[in-house]
Amino acid sequence: MTTKYIFITGGVVSSVGKGVAAAAIGRLFKERGFDVAVQKLDPYINVDPGTMSPYQHGEVFVLDDGAETDLDLGHYERFIDISLNRVCNVTSGQVYAEVIAKERRGDYLGGTIQVIPHITNEIKRRIGMVSKTTGAEIVLVEIGGTVGDIESLPFLEALRQMRSDLGRENSVYIHVTWLPHIGATNELKTKPTQHSVRELRSIGIAPDMIIARSDHPVDDELRDKIALFCDVQRQAVIPLVTTPGLYEVPLKLEEEHVGDTLLHRLGLAARREPDWSGWKHLIAEVNRPKPTVNIALVGKYVELHDAYMSVREALNHAGLALGIEVKIDWVHSSELEKGREWEHVHNADGIIVPGGFGSRGIEGKIQAASFARQEGVPYLGLCLGLQLMVIEFARHVLKDDEANSTEFNRSTPHPVIDLMPDQRDIADLGGTMRLGLYPCQLQPGTLAAHAYSVEMAQERHRHRFELNNAYRNALEQGGMLCSGISPDGRLVEIVEMSNHPFMLGTQFHPEFLSRPNRPHPLFIAFLKAVRDRAGFTESVEIETVQVEAEA
Ligand code: GLN
Repeated sequence: MTTKYIFITGGVVSSVGKGVAAAAIGRLFKERGFDVAVQKLDPYINVDPGTMSPYQHGEVFVLDDGAETDLDLGHYERFIDISLNRVCNVTSGQVYAEVIAKERRGDYLGGTIQVIPHITNEIKRRIGMVSKTTGAEIVLVEIGGTVGDIESLPFLEALRQMRSDLGRENSVYIHVTWLPHIGATNELKTKPTQHSVRELRSIGIAPDMIIARSDHPVDDELRDKIALFCDVQRQAVIPLVTTPGLYEVPLKLEEEHVGDTLLHRLGLAARREPDWSGWKHLIAEVNRPKPTVNIALVGKYVELHDAYMSVREALNHAGLALGIEVKIDWVHSSELEKGREWEHVHNADGIIVPGGFGSRGIEGKIQAASFARQEGVPYLGLCLGLQLMVIEFARHVLKDDEANSTEFNRSTPHPVIDLMPDQRDIADLGGTMRLGLYPCQLQPGTLAAHAYSVEMAQERHRHRFELNNAYRNALEQGGMLCSGISPDGRLVEIVEMSNHPFMLGTQFHPEFLSRPNRPHPLFIAFLKAVRDRAGFTESVEIETVQVEAEA
């Protein structure tokens, strides 16, 4: 079948949940039997978000192929339960770098290189790559930012051209806007939406559907008004009122017949009836009152919860499967260093130290790991969280007082965490870490092997430093097991404490593979230990995410 395209732009303000809407629409198509992929076009000049501060951008989401991408790709993968690849996140930086490299090679010899057509052609080429590399029949393309931003103009121009390239029956434009609420008169306003649609039209794009986000119910009159003033069909004005949980969005869009309207518009018929029973069960579980466990998440960017989006989601998925509510206490590791915020750690049923870079707050995280080890509190260390667990152990159990990672102290006498030789001569910081899927052999008889039901897992990585093999024997003799190892034996992927209910660190990021309906086995194992500590027991059969290496 000819590939069909849905282009999703945003208007009025940013952060209205365009990514979640795109992901949810993708799910509507998947439920109707279509192969779907989603691409995010980010207008900033960085080549990828890998070098950006989480304060700027939130979490960096890593794909199987090692692409460091926008966190919206996490929504796409979780909602649709697909694995995307690096062509699914395009930035202005990538587009310009490609065009300039071609120019230097002489590919355009004699020509003047311009935004139209050279940049727009490169954008269109990259949009075309999605169906070629994923086999998707329906490709959703979300444009970051809001209409009116200078940076997004070349992207919008490329989308405008694609209507005539593809034909009307193969392309749909959806505009996601925000209806502000005026408290004094208790009314929702459509004027910003009208302005934003006018702006879009001035670029040459007339939206086929408007998703109007709001915090308050949207009545029929308002819907009619938007349809009239923005010149879209009434059934294509979709109110989307903020839901208590993200995963309700596909159901809300289904209630508004978005899937059927879009398929009809694209000249397609559903291949099967959508089956929402699993989702409805999930939502019912979300809303059911459940016993609560407290998890102290000890991090560096805790003011911005988006910086740990996948960790939070992975905890929620596992909590739902186990019938417990996970309450996260966000603890600033630098505060722990000053003796503050310890009450959250002391009250926690479990502690997570997530990934991170740079030395700020490192000692506070090590103190939290120390507390977890000594007090028998369940601990899950993710990447940096593994590294700090090893440093803590080396310092306090092996008595190598100054043990450290060479990331934080280049001249430490005990570099228990260090660069592998292949990382030593790298000068560029962008895209040069150990990135993407790597196999991990689980060592029989360990907590890790017990958690996974497979012998070999495949997990996503994003780090430069590794456990230093020179210390492996000493660590193991002291009681720290290396329970996951690369098949060639060179890299330690998982460590765990013997004689502890659950203290485990992973060099990879299991959170990226967790799905709402298939939680990650290590998050399940961690939360089971947390649940035991909190004093709840209940046994449930759970299907966890398939993370087995392909034979
Ligand atoms: N900073 C550490 C490294 O580069 C850990 C990275 C991470 O937690 N993702 O190895």
